Amino acid sequence: MENLWSDSEAKGMNDLDSLVYMSRLIGANTELVVWGGGNTSIKVTEPDIAGNDIEVLKIKGSGSDLKTIRHNQFAHLRQADIVPLIERKDMTDEDMVDYLDKCMLDPKNPRPSVETLLHAFLPFKCVAHSHADAIVSLTNNVDQQKVLTDVYKGNMGLVEYIRPGFLLSKLVGEQVIQNPNLRGVILAKHGLFTWGDTAKEAYDRHIDLVTEAETYLKDHQIKTLTHGHTHDLDPDKQKSLVEILTPMMRGLISKTSKKVLKYDNSKEIMNFLSYQESPELSQIGPATPDHLIHTKQKPLWVELDKSGDSNAMYTSLKTQLDDYVINYDKWYEQHTSGSDIKLDPFPRVILIPQLGMWTTGKDAKATTITGDIYHHTINVMTKSEGISSFISLSDQDAYDMEYWPLEQYKLTLAPPDKDLASKVALITGAANGIGKAIAATLATEGAHVFLTDIDETKVQEVVEELKDTIDPLRISGCSMDVTNQQSIKESYSQLIRQFGGIDILVSNAGIAPDGAIDTLELADWQRSLDINTTGHFLVASHSLRIMKSQDTGGSMIFIGTKNIPAPGAEFGAYSVAKAAEGQLARIIALEGGEFGIRANIINPDAVFQGTNLWSDKIKEARASAHGIDVTKIEEFYQNRSLLKKPVFAEDVAEAALFLASDRSSKTTGAMIPVDSGVKEAFPR
Ligand SMILES: [Zn+2]
Repeated sequence: MENLWSDSEAKGMNDLDSLVYMSRLIGANTELVVWGGGNTSIKVTEPDIAGNDIEVLKIKGSGSDLKTIRHNQFAHLRQADIVPLIERKDMTDEDMVDYLDKCMLDPKNPRPSVETLLHAFLPFKCVAHSHADAIVSLTNNVDQQKVLTDVYKGNMGLVEYIRPGFLLSKLVGEQVIQNPNLRGVILAKHGLFTWGDTAKEAYDRHIDLVTEAETYLKDHQIKTLTHGHTHDLDPDKQKSLVEILTPMMRGLISKTSKKVLKYDNSKEIMNFLSYQESPELSQIGPATPDHLIHTKQKPLWVELDKSGDSNAMYTSLKTQLDDYVINYDKWYEQHTSGSDIKLDPFPRVILIPQLGMWTTGKDAKATTITGDIYHHTINVMTKSEGISSFISLSDQDAYDMEYWPLEQYKLTLAPPDKDLASKVALITGAANGIGKAIAATLATEGAHVFLTDIDETKVQEVVEELKDTIDPLRISGCSMDVTNQQSIKESYSQLIRQFGGIDILVSNAGIAPDGAIDTLELADWQRSLDINTTGHFLVASHSLRIMKSQDTGGSMIFIGTKNIPAPGAEFGAYSVAKAAEGQLARIIALEGGEFGIRANIINPDAVFQGTNLWSDKIKEARASAHGIDVTKIEEFYQNRSLLKKPVFAEDVAEAALFLASDRSSKTTGAMIPVDSGVKEAFPR
């Protein structure tokens, strides 16, 4: 492992600066920690509020991530109040948390890490802790003792697995105090602690010890896993099976609470899935307790008939998922103390040979974290198996970790779910105007939003903008031509692989050609029908198939126009095609009802802001049709409305949000005007 410490970068840093610098070096290396794992600390002498010099422990706050940690994400505690605790025999988690709260010097700091006592009990200035894959690979096998002696020749402390908390801290603290010359302490099936007089010293030792572990693992792989099949599935076949299977899977695991899915067929995953040993190996358990929080104890390994018969695949998948849930329930019953509320029983990781891995969770962050972690689980399993035989936490330890009250407590601190949490929306014509405003509004309310538009550059710009301002993981998109079936298929394939399916369609893409009927070119008429009618049909029909496969309902929102109930002269190609769109929406409401799929229409009028629809040419044409000057057109539309107010894209987005959410769960086949009140266009 490369030592990334740079003396020139670290020059002139104070203690906390160098701790932040070291923390980020550790955090940036996923072979050491992933997603919030690990922690670091430093002990410094500083004046307290009364001006008396005291020893202050600065330790990573709970919930922060080492790779991006900032100065204000460390908790500051009075070290002298913590050290005497090592004399106690035991302490409950609740008492420990309560006690540490009272040692905090600044209540504005985050709460300290659950491993704070361990840091405090180590009598050294700087402490670093990681869950390094290589270290865990040395301990998660039946020959742990021999392996560790071979690698570290007795200069390394070892504590057998127990859950983090007071006892683990006491055991480590006592071992180090009695053996001050140890190079570090390994926590079996958990990770590594090192220390030093400076952050650099603690970091250097950490990297040295991990490097020695890596070298040993590399040189002592006595077993190689065997490939169970020689050929890979044809990529097109794999892709089409994934497209059929994923929405079914999403529906089946969303029975208790809605989930999103993320698909992964990277080389590392496909290799693991191909080994003959993997079905068994994958069921042994997690590499570390912090992996388990995200992956659960076991993934679901599915053997599937890959002939492509979707009914057979559904039945087979359902049977194996049902078995997983039954086994989870049994496991819960066997290990519960009776007071825990049973958690969601569905798998977080689903593995299917020749197809890939799916991770499941409440949002894209959860599926991404779980996916990243499972890559490391595979790394540890295969390396441990290579030198010996992989082992994991006992069933009871795994249970105690999944149901650890401190972890459950952390979940209660999360903000309540937003209206569209765990839902997935696809929006057409999302690069500007109404489509863009709807994308921003739905994403702000928690939805995963997939933006599509014919303009590839523009849609990517908007995707980047929303990623920056709202959420980098819940926003995605690509170019899509609503008149081209292949283009639609490709976009939906990407949507399915990223988020698992679709709950909300916002069918918005449109054009506004003008011209009187007697002079209208057939090509212009046809193009309006292609985009303003057939385009809606194609995306709706594609979405319907996926929604039916998920069997969890859905909402389709069609952006119509005031022209549906009140057409305009010299606007025939547009008004006729949009009227057909309105009828299409009502047909979908008729056909979708029994599946819980709703379809509604929003009729905006005169939304000038940020839209391509109102080109200069259209403005000229509509001004002339109404016999007014083109510079007065916005004012004209505003004044003809009952409310005499301009209509903005954001106003349309509010109506879309209502129709997308369960707040409108009893509304289908409806037409909602967002036009500031145009009496000719009252729906009837
Ligand atoms: Zn840890």
